[in-house]
Amino acid sequence: MLLANIFLFLCSQVLRSAENTARAILRILGCRPIQNEEIAVSSQQAAAVFSNPNYRASPEQILAQIARGNRYSDVNSLARTISRRRRRITDWERGDLIGKGSFTSVYRGSNEDGFFFAAKGVSRKEHKSLCHLENEIAILEGLDHENIIQYYGTLNDGEMVYIFLELVSHGTLQQAYKNCRFKESQVSHYTRQILQGLKYLHSCNVVHGDLKCANILVTESGRIKLADFGLSTSMEDHSQSLKLGWRSSYWTAPEVADPKRGGYGFPSDIWSLGCTVTEMSTRKHPQYINGENPLKLDRAIRSGKGPIVPAYLSHNLKDFINQCLQPDPNQRPTVADLLAHPFVNESSCTQPDLTELLF
Ligand code: ATP
Repeated sequence: MLLANIFLFLCSQVLRSAENTARAILRILGCRPIQNEEIAVSSQQAAAVFSNPNYRASPEQILAQIARGNRYSDVNSLARTISRRRRRITDWERGDLIGKGSFTSVYRGSNEDGFFFAAKGVSRKEHKSLCHLENEIAILEGLDHENIIQYYGTLNDGEMVYIFLELVSHGTLQQAYKNCRFKESQVSHYTRQILQGLKYLHSCNVVHGDLKCANILVTESGRIKLADFGLSTSMEDHSQSLKLGWRSSYWTAPEVADPKRGGYGFPSDIWSLGCTVTEMSTRKHPQYINGENPLKLDRAIRSGKGPIVPAYLSHNLKDFINQCLQPDPNQRPTVADLLAHPFVNESSCTQPDLTELLF
């Protein structure tokens, strides 16, 4: 009984602080404050729910109910919407170059409030790069998930087109594994979050199309952000990605390298995931027998043999990779199947950090 009372007290404190947090954030934003009656779960209602012995709610669930009661799909969505509104970028300064891809240059940017973000830009004269960036904008505009890079907006200054993105100062997974060896538990932790991001993407009918460690960012607290949607496509509108074309790379699925085998789709992201997990585990791009020469690499990929999976990896990790690398796309597991795989399931300790989510 005493424990139940302590639990009730703690829950009501969490709830009250959540209400205050939501109000405070909206006040900072200059939005109309949330009124008491708008908070769907009041302390009394919560107490009634928690006094039911069959109900086991965590503080995260309580916050989720508050978010839902305020027309957000979940608490992350509430926090992201708030932070995105707060971070509308109007007046900004371009800082140092922090990354360069095949199509774009990425700079650190800051605005007059001292807020830092990434500004990914291309010259308006570079038609192909512009096409990639426009494709990325079209995809990012419709996405909102904690494992997907947050998009803040676009600026066309006449010479350059920039997109403003959440700044992930720790860089890509490729940069991270070059600096330190990942333990399998770490690979599992990252893979689980990549799957969460992919699950959301696929539920939005979007194929990432270019999954690899160089396109996945990682925050200092180990949170994964899928990035670089320049080759992504909405399965509802294939025309754009077909126009952009596909490049054969170490991460390309056999059916993408050889469209006669079916072309791209959700299973091609699963193949690339298998290659990405191999990459994280070996700290090298996926290795193919005789595959360094571009022509031989293309032949190796089209043959459907897949990259080498080192024997020294654990049984669960090898099994996870081999399932992703089934040559027949129809035999490959879905994201939901893979989220139940022991490799990502056993070490699942991904309790959300509420402080990070809300601020
Ligand atoms: P690709 O050659 O893969 O098509 P791209 O031209 O589309 O590349 P990105 O891969 O998106 O460009 O970005 C290039 C580099 O910039 C990344 O590898 C990364 O180092 C850095 N970068 C991109 N976005 C961010 C971000 N939001 N925060 C921090 N760094 C970033």
